[in-house]
Amino acid sequence: MSLVDAAIVRLLPAVPKPVVRRISERYIAGEKLDDALRVVRELNDQGKLATIDVLGEEIAEPDEARAIAAAYRETFEAIERGRLDANVSVKPTALGLKLGYDLFRENLLDVVRHAAGRGNFVRIDMEDASTTDDTLRAYRELRESGFDDVGIVLQARLKRTLADLAELAELRPNVRLCKGIYLEPAEIAYRDFDSIRAGFVQALEQLLELGCYVGIATHDEWLVEQGRRLVAERGLGREEYEFQMLLGVRPALGDKLVRSGNRLRIYTPFGGHWYAYSLRRLQENPKIAGYVAGDTVRGLLGR
Ligand SMILES: Cc1cc2nc3c(=O)[nH]c(=O)nc-3n(C[C@H](O)[C@H](O)[C@H](O)COP(=O)(O)OP(=O)(O)OC[C@H]3O[C@@H](n4cnc5c(N)ncnc54)[C@H](O)[C@@H]3O)c2cc1C
Repeated sequence: MSLVDAAIVRLLPAVPKPVVRRISERYIAGEKLDDALRVVRELNDQGKLATIDVLGEEIAEPDEARAIAAAYRETFEAIERGRLDANVSVKPTALGLKLGYDLFRENLLDVVRHAAGRGNFVRIDMEDASTTDDTLRAYRELRESGFDDVGIVLQARLKRTLADLAELAELRPNVRLCKGIYLEPAEIAYRDFDSIRAGFVQALEQLLELGCYVGIATHDEWLVEQGRRLVAERGLGREEYEFQMLLGVRPALGDKLVRSGNRLRIYTPFGGHWYAYSLRRLQENPKIAGYVAGDTVRGLLGR
């Protein structure tokens, strides 16, 4: 990232919300469930799968968390009605984790039960390191209660990831592996690009060794190639792993994966709580300075 971009990233929280909204439109399906369903249908038509995320990170009240769980129930019904090829991703804090573990667990169970009743699947996203223990605990509790159509996320950035994987090994978890978006202190996380990449490859090797179904979630071309190499070396079939990418990020790389016969799932967020998600996407966008500057100038010119 250039110095100008790095400076803009630091200033992003000061950029007016309407500007953030305009330049992050490509990362979000829209505010309504219908927007997400339309986008998922388009993705399915292109041979891509989806995972739908009901945005809800800034919730402050238990009822808001329950409303997010209800939105997921509605989402499963709509997926079924529309015969769409999609599952869902849930954020622990959106289901109330910051308000209490029991509230989170209750809402998660509600979503997972609903998925199980419809033959669908729930991925529990991984948020910042303050949530890792509770998230893994909830996953384990669900699996031990017999819910198997649920998966977790491991972050290559965290130094604990291989140990977490060893602890979960007996459950043969379905794992989305990603670099990890949350910047964590050096005591618990790798900070440099090459170590994070190396951690990703190591964790992927371990996961495949354990026979886990892995969602290889990255837009890093080098890691995509490593992923392709590792699954080919093990002779895995198309149904035994998948690649995952975020809506609006490097679609050409995704198209290439689909053309070469890989399953690709696109993370498709929708909802009113778009701000925190958008900031994170913009903060990792290498062309951010151009977008922000261009949009601000267009705004000034009264587009
Ligand atoms: C499906 C999916 C689910 C995820 N779930 C989680 C999760 O639960 N928890 C978590 O902590 N993180 C999650 N992430 C985020 C992930 O951890 C990374 O922050 C993010 O994917 C960027 O890392 P990268 O592997 O793509 O590599 P990078 O090196 O960051 O990116 C590689 C290249 O991709 C392009 N690129 C990346 N991001 C953008 C962007 N926003 N806009 C434009 N171009 C971009 C750039 O060209 C960049 O050079 C998820 C990512 C994906 C794809």
